[in-house]
Amino acid sequence: MKIMVAVKRVIDYAVKIRVKPDKTGVETQNVKMSMNPFCEIALEEALRIKEAGMASEVVAVSMGPAQCVDTLRTGLAMGADRAIHVDATGPLYPLSVAKLFKALVELEKPGLLILGKQAIDDDCNQTGQMVAGLLGWPQGTFASKVVLDKEKQLATVDREVDGGLETLCMDLPAVITTDLRLNQPRYATLPNIMKAKSKVIKKYTPQELNVEIKSELEVLQVTEPPKRKAGVIVSSVDELIDKLKNEAHVI
Ligand code: AMP
Repeated sequence: MKIMVAVKRVIDYAVKIRVKPDKTGVETQNVKMSMNPFCEIALEEALRIKEAGMASEVVAVSMGPAQCVDTLRTGLAMGADRAIHVDATGPLYPLSVAKLFKALVELEKPGLLILGKQAIDDDCNQTGQMVAGLLGWPQGTFASKVVLDKEKQLATVDREVDGGLETLCMDLPAVITTDLRLNQPRYATLPNIMKAKSKVIKKYTPQELNVEIKSELEVLQVTEPPKRKAGVIVSSVDELIDKLKNEAHVI
């Protein structure tokens, strides 16, 4: 079985985000970019499934500008066998990404598609659900544990829900999206980084996949959260109670 894994290139989680002065988006020039953390978890899970002898190949896929190749090289250095880059400039919304994944799934025929539960740049949490819907495949979202049964071609997925765990069983092929506690992704070692340089990255355009990139959504503006006001130090409990009662009106 082949596993396809989605790896999105996003602003590194440790970078302090700056909104562009014209409020059309966030600054990405000269900003450190990395693999979306939930996609690292998705790739790690695919590699563990392969290492357990339940998959024969792991294919990493990234969609977006030419620099996505760097993200794919990281994925190859972590252990993916092959990579696919869908070269698309301009904003890519979840429905377009889901349509591109559907087209790639039809070409590559993986038995499992693993995505992150959300991309930390847009926080959409939509792509996995949409691609499962487009493909008509079952979906196990927010997976905190994944167990495959190769004989019966089944996946069992634990999901952390309010107040407990939900366990789902689904037929393969299926879509799984990964939650934070599923695993601890590995670091790429130096020899593997070197080896990744010679691994193959196949390139497609959306036109070659017969997908038109368009969106029904328009981002009106992006703004920074309001600045927090400075706090005050009170000299006694009585003063605190007085302020909470008469200024903040919370008691
Ligand atoms: P989102 O629905 O945008 O929060 O993204 C959910 C997941 O879909 C991400 O964690 C990725 O695994 C995948 N994904 C979204 N956009 C892309 C992209 N441009 N390239 C590769 N994977 C993507």
